[in-house]
Amino acid sequence: MKGAPLAERIRAEVADDVRELGEVGLATLQVGEDEASTVYLRLKHQAAAEVEIVSVDRKLPHAITENELLGLVADLNADEAIDGILVQLPLPEHIDEARVIAAVEPVKDVDGFHPFNAGQLYLGRPAHVPATPLGVMALLAEYRVQIDGSRAVVVGRSDIVGKPVAHLLLQANATVTICHSHTDDLERHTLDADVLVVAAGVPEVVTADMVKGGSAVVDVGINRVAGGLVGDVDPGAAERAAFLTPVPGGVGPMTIAMLLRNTVTAARYRRGLLAFPGIGR
Ligand code: NDP
Repeated sequence: MKGAPLAERIRAEVADDVRELGEVGLATLQVGEDEASTVYLRLKHQAAAEVEIVSVDRKLPHAITENELLGLVADLNADEAIDGILVQLPLPEHIDEARVIAAVEPVKDVDGFHPFNAGQLYLGRPAHVPATPLGVMALLAEYRVQIDGSRAVVVGRSDIVGKPVAHLLLQANATVTICHSHTDDLERHTLDADVLVVAAGVPEVVTADMVKGGSAVVDVGINRVAGGLVGDVDPGAAERAAFLTPVPGGVGPMTIAMLLRNTVTAARYRRGLLAFPGIGR
């Protein structure tokens, strides 16, 4: 399941949507100079520029106080030209991440990390959903993988990937098992999975013999090792699985495409073209 061709199509659709909507604005906040964050943000801004989303990149010193950062979030919440706000994580230790995330106006929370948006997903009335889980679901849909009635196993329970993807699979009528670092006998679960989504951040934690024959396997992991980038699944699993995403080139390109789509969705919510679930805007 290659991500790049689908991601390109979604970006072209987003570009059409932006033209139709007029100006769409995205603001990002980065505190400090974490190298990986700088790279991700550069990619996000490049992708936004390609679809003519106007993006503002606020780089803030590591020493900024929590209150100063909350003040900037409040300014962006009030800024009519900004449809989406993205707080690049991780934040430095002296700043309470949860407090900053909760300060973002839910309708502008294009990362889908705000407790309101997480709650809406839990309730089965999704408003803004995190981009990577959306990308996983879009890939499964693109390759016509049967989810309804299937046994789905998610390895990983982070707020950013594991939990939201498990909720999306549940909503699509899979029977869902969530595994994590305390799971006893991981293989027992993965071998049972018609749909297996792995987001553990452990190089090749799922080996080929842990995968059910004929299944669909989505490898979310991106791990930097001596030989380059590897996923959480041994690529040899392709011998047994019917579908497997490559790393790189699988879920990675989908994440940015879905972030752009979320920004357009935020613009629609804000213009009253789409009802914002739960608040009715
Ligand atoms: P986290 O570190 O936040 O979460 C990892 C999860 O995996 C935890 O729930 C942890 O369990 C579980 N886990 C760790 N080791 C094992 C194990 N041996 N067996 C079973 N479960 C295990 O990571 P993220 O969810 O943020 O990211 C996961 C991976 O996906 C990373 O490689 C990351 O780089 C990648 N990623 C890729 C993206 C993309 O665009 N392709 C976007 C986001 C992330 P516990 O809760 O018990 O600690």
